[in-house]
Amino acid sequence: MVEQKETIFDHWQRPLKDLRISVTDRCNFRCHYCMPAEIFGPDYPFLKRDELLSFEELNRLVSLFHRVTSLQKLRITGGEPLMRKDLPQLISLLSQTTKIEDIAMTTNGVFLPRYAKELKEAGLKRVTVSLDSLDSEKFGKINGRGIGIEPVLKGMQAASDAGLGVKVNMVVQKGVNDNDIIPMAKFFREKGYMLRFIEYMDVGTSNGWKYDEVITKQEIIERINEDMPLEAIKPAYVGEVASRFKYKGSDDEVGVISSVSDAFCHSCTRARLSVEGSLYTCLFATKGHDFKKLIRGNYSDEDIMNEIKNCWNKRDDRYSAERSLDGNTKREKIEMSHIGG
Ligand code: SAM
Ligand code: SF4
Ligand code: SF4
Repeated sequence: MVEQKETIFDHWQRPLKDLRISVTDRCNFRCHYCMPAEIFGPDYPFLKRDELLSFEELNRLVSLFHRVTSLQKLRITGGEPLMRKDLPQLISLLSQTTKIEDIAMTTNGVFLPRYAKELKEAGLKRVTVSLDSLDSEKFGKINGRGIGIEPVLKGMQAASDAGLGVKVNMVVQKGVNDNDIIPMAKFFREKGYMLRFIEYMDVGTSNGWKYDEVITKQEIIERINEDMPLEAIKPAYVGEVASRFKYKGSDDEVGVISSVSDAFCHSCTRARLSVEGSLYTCLFATKGHDFKKLIRGNYSDEDIMNEIKNCWNKRDDRYSAERSLDGNTKREKIEMSHIGG
């Protein structure tokens, strides 16, 4: 008989459906909006290997989440997830143990030519590759390492050739890459990869975020619309974070993730497992719940499942919605590279 699960809801009646797992705090890029080079320099205290959850520990924890919540999706992220050694082994463990079909990864794409095939064979379904400009010089400045666009485009191609679904994320910053909105939209429409523009967010505390640097969803859509008329389409499922648009007269789509100008907290079904094994129930949280302590302590599966339920039941996060109301961004927040985007 199939085990019937009760649905666990948080304070605002949101179930947990989507778990994002940060597998490393390290990255080969230094994007200034995420890991600015002046802060994440050669002496930065990145975590040591034994401070990260092992693949076996992660697999046990994710299986327990799956048993006790409505979990349907996993996303592997970081830092740069492909800097974690033997990552396909983790994908393979997770897909075999949990049987969750929807396993995706967010990556800067540079290591995909090396790993795409292995990842696909291990059970990965989709990748989202981040690229903020088609101008190699500008992109090199944004990523802080002078890396041009070719390795990223090759990564996308390798993923597609391996049979992985490919989407593209572009963080838009006023005066930095807003001129690239139209060229990116045209290029990826032609390529057939769905592009999602992300409003620059006040995540973490090291990027010196200012509201003036945000280009809102409305501005992005208006700009594209002048060139290529768009029409809004309904979300594919409840809790989809990107607002979706279709180029009129075609089935080609583009999306915008509007965490700043149009918060979607009411339907947020995501939790994040940080690189040090803490559960964060909001991207902008100050504190997590330490599951590494439980996994490494003498706690039974029942104990850990009860703790998962407790954390989710107590969750009342709606940071972006509150920020829209009072404009306050001043809380102490965990860094994106720890919690995963
Ligand atoms: N390294 C991988 C990558 O860049 O795709 C995965 C981790 S990265 C933290 C995940 C996503 O978060 C990326 O698409 C990145 O562009 C986005 N991101 C990072 N900092 C951001 C910020 N301040 N505002 C909006 N998006 C951000
Ligand atoms: Fe690295 Fe991704 Fe952050 Fe850029 S956005 S610094 S690629 S983790
Ligand atoms: Fe979810 Fe927090 Fe983002 Fe709101 S601000 S959508 S609660 S992660």
